[in-house]
Amino acid sequence: MELRKINDRVFYYPHQPETDRPMLAYIKGDKFSLAIDAGNSAYHVDEFYKALEAQKLKKPDFTVITHWHWDHTFGMHRISGLSIAHNKTNEFLGKEKTKIFDKAYLDFLKNDDKCFGKEYKNNKKVVIVQADIRFQESLSLNLGRMTAKIFHAESPHSDDTVLIYIPEEKILFLGDATSEDFFNDGFMDKEKLRALINLIEKTDCKFCILSHTEPLTKTDLLYYLKSI
Ligand SMILES: [Zn+2]
Repeated sequence: MELRKINDRVFYYPHQPETDRPMLAYIKGDKFSLAIDAGNSAYHVDEFYKALEAQKLKKPDFTVITHWHWDHTFGMHRISGLSIAHNKTNEFLGKEKTKIFDKAYLDFLKNDDKCFGKEYKNNKKVVIVQADIRFQESLSLNLGRMTAKIFHAESPHSDDTVLIYIPEEKILFLGDATSEDFFNDGFMDKEKLRALINLIEKTDCKFCILSHTEPLTKTDLLYYLKSI
């Protein structure tokens, strides 16, 4: 699969529904480049980096994680450069790292989630690591004529939700923030969703990028979210 272009400095490697792989984004500053999410396995990272190379783009200096779910983090051990995550994301990953040593838990994951089973078929090894850089509220990266404003936000999907806003390009990356909570029987917390809608409305952005779908305009996303 090929890397797709939002503009000259923002790219993404499309999501892959068969194994629940989220899209991986790439922000190219003059000095540093930033990837958004680490993918669901080492193989996912390798594919992404190959697609970057084909466009003569260097490997990312930083990779920021939108939330702890396996499909966004289990490739983290394979990334080039430094990883960045919210304190809570790191806590969740620490717990998962201990739990995964238990074969019964690993088997449960493989059976429970068909996509996980497919990605890790033939006993491929699951490796979980925590991030190099941790933060609580927000973090701003100067990538060189390009800023990444990374911040924690309230969301119905997970408590450790992190959004990334690129003001120069008017793009907001939301990970899975607008989805329901799969770890709470798919519960959609309407209050949290409303808080998130307010935040999106206030953000000066043209595009809103979710992990498991094609890029959307802000208008289209808000129209959809208000129908929930
Ligand atoms: Zn998720």
